[in-house]
Amino acid sequence: MSEKMRAIKKTKPERGITVSESEIPKIKDNEVLIKVKKRAICGTDLHIYQWNKWSENRLKLPVIIGHEFYGEIVEKGKEVKEYKTGELVTAEMHVVCNHCYLCRTGKAHLCENVKILGVDANGAFADFVAVPSINLWRVKKDIPEELFAIYDPFGNAVHTVFEGDIPTKTVLITGAGPIGAMAAGIAKAAGASLVIVSEPNEYRRDLAKKLGADILVNPLKENLVEKIMELTDGEGVDNVLEMSGATPALIDGLKAIRKGGILVLLGIFNKDVSLDINELIIFKGITIKGVNGRKMYDTWYRMDGLLRSGKLDLSPIITHRMPMEDIEKGLLLMEEGKAGKVILS
Ligand code: NAD
Ligand code: ZN
Repeated sequence: MSEKMRAIKKTKPERGITVSESEIPKIKDNEVLIKVKKRAICGTDLHIYQWNKWSENRLKLPVIIGHEFYGEIVEKGKEVKEYKTGELVTAEMHVVCNHCYLCRTGKAHLCENVKILGVDANGAFADFVAVPSINLWRVKKDIPEELFAIYDPFGNAVHTVFEGDIPTKTVLITGAGPIGAMAAGIAKAAGASLVIVSEPNEYRRDLAKKLGADILVNPLKENLVEKIMELTDGEGVDNVLEMSGATPALIDGLKAIRKGGILVLLGIFNKDVSLDINELIIFKGITIKGVNGRKMYDTWYRMDGLLRSGKLDLSPIITHRMPMEDIEKGLLLMEEGKAGKVILS
């Protein structure tokens, strides 16, 4: 095929994005060609649009962006036996090497040689995308179809929550972007006794509430640590899930954890952090875990399982739907903090 398709591309090293035409990708023997049905905008796409330091260091232009999507298999390479054309799938867009130490010891989400489709190579904000079949995940008939467009960030939230000690325990989530808000619902579904969410943005506090958070705190107006102590008989929370990348949230979180508690870090900090390690971590016996990506594919099975449990309604997280060409409108809504997940159809 040498026909053209529509594609959202980053072409210039400056703020902005281009809606243009591109060649339909040619697949390799181990890949499938997917006709994309729906896509979702990630915070990473916003960073690429804004052209921050990370994008500048990481991207080689031009590139078709986008890594949250699902669609229909329309063509497959000759090595692909497990899938049929016509099947609906989403995909893990971290393409790993399968040869490094981490890949070979069950930690492929930390692969030394990972390539992210939509960042390091062409992605899914186009009519078609090529993906290795090993990375596919089937759309299930008993789960609302549109949710498969957000399995990537949902997976970040699921991975983070299950690194904590959640059933019957208390949880503080700092930062209710789409991932933090989903984490609130997941923690409830996983049996947390109390889920507290700290978030300065009112629109996003409402979103976390809709997803299932018990208590919402504006850390700019209320004393978060005092509030947590009141709510936990002066002991502190069992778990803090850090999902903001904000230093004050991290420090308050550490103050709010009980001795022997767990801190799970997902949020990315854009500067170095200075804190009192002795008082906040060592003498309190805190366990700290960093989270990257989604476990391949433990996290993916858990996502299907959570949605099938009937205990998690993710639908409120999708707040906007628009045609792919209107992507800039969606990016600006996200930049203002006035959106959950934005779907591009
Ligand atoms: P987001 O930027 O939409 O959400 C962050 C939220 O934190 C915002 O709503 C913001 O208002 C809030 N916030 C800012 N300062 C705060 C404070 N002092 N206290 C509490 N909340 C505060 O991001 P997202 O898409 O939901 O992702 C969450 C974080 O996870 C981001 O930092 C993102 O870069 C990171 N991330 C990490 C991975 C990974 O693999 N480690 C993957 C995806 C995203
Ligand atoms: Zn590897």
